[in-house]
Amino acid sequence: MSFDVQAATDNYINALGPEALARAAAYTSGSHWTLLWGFLISTAVAWLVIKLQVLDNLEDKLKHKSLWLRSFAISGAYLFLSSLLTLPWTLYADWWREMSYGKTSQPLSDFLSQGSVSLLISTLLGGLFLSGVYFFIRRLGRYWWAWSGGLTAVTVSTLMLIGPLWIEPLFNKYTPLPPGEVREALEELAKQAKIQPDRIFVYNGSRQSNRFTANVSGLGSSARIAISDVTVTQASLDEVKAVTGHEIGHYVSGHVWNLIGTAVVLSMIFFYLTDAMFNMVARRLGCTASIAEPRGIAVLLVCISFLSLMAQPITNYVVRLGEIEADQYSYKAVNLPDAMASALVKTAEYRDPRPHPLQELIFYTHPSVEKRVRAAMEWKAQHTN
Ligand SMILES: [Zn+2]
Repeated sequence: MSFDVQAATDNYINALGPEALARAAAYTSGSHWTLLWGFLISTAVAWLVIKLQVLDNLEDKLKHKSLWLRSFAISGAYLFLSSLLTLPWTLYADWWREMSYGKTSQPLSDFLSQGSVSLLISTLLGGLFLSGVYFFIRRLGRYWWAWSGGLTAVTVSTLMLIGPLWIEPLFNKYTPLPPGEVREALEELAKQAKIQPDRIFVYNGSRQSNRFTANVSGLGSSARIAISDVTVTQASLDEVKAVTGHEIGHYVSGHVWNLIGTAVVLSMIFFYLTDAMFNMVARRLGCTASIAEPRGIAVLLVCISFLSLMAQPITNYVVRLGEIEADQYSYKAVNLPDAMASALVKTAEYRDPRPHPLQELIFYTHPSVEKRVRAAMEWKAQHTN
């Protein structure tokens, strides 16, 4: 009797039960709505800051300072102020909602203290980046969008390089995998892919989230594979191997370069379109600044957020292609399609395994769990007899 791919796929997904499937669907579509609401709320905050003329007053006070200092201070101030004003929404969307679905056990105090660390980092780095953008607008005129795209390339690559070294350790503790069968299995996998075994870490991901997850980050010598302690404690040895095989797939396929390339091309397009739409959006929000004035930063960022929201289907498409490639790498490297399927089912609670095709096309950063399990079962059908 031949192996029935569809029946095997249905078995895996249906094993979750109708209640868990309904909950996953509710959580997932809610997450997509929070994206839209997040944009609307940040636009309302921009309108409020413009109305109160906070940045106009600040620019007036700093008018004798250099352009660089002025744009750094005004951009940083706006990033800081808008994060504070959207805090109630952030608390709802990123903490309370996660808590109510059982996706996090992080105490509010820890959430807030880690939030203040990331607020400081984003104010500082965001202020630096935006002061570069204002420098290009003022000094290079018409082609500022192309130069700013170049600046995005430098910034994203620098962040990727220093992320694992200086930023990620501020939020989680990364330690080498303890000796044992998991470590032996993963070292073997790393060796096949010519990755130094000391680049595989376990981190206390359970601090922020109960999600079953792993990731690759860093560039060149800072690149590393990190597995959340949630995955290590909740997965079987085969599941850890299948999931790590997937992460190593990202690493050896160089997906980080696809992401940097996409970020640069999209940022140039975003800046170009922002140049074209700035005056219209500024009028609607009641802002009198031109694009070259740092006090118009709220309008500039509303344009960029709107364009990033619109570009979601494109960025998600690129990311999904990488996910398919990484799954295929795992099947080739460890050949454990059933372990991959059962590991994937464990992620279904926060990614509806059977989304509407349109929902998947627009919002999904990974192909649906059902599609991925079916691909695993197809691999199984072709490689076992
Ligand atoms: Zn992946």
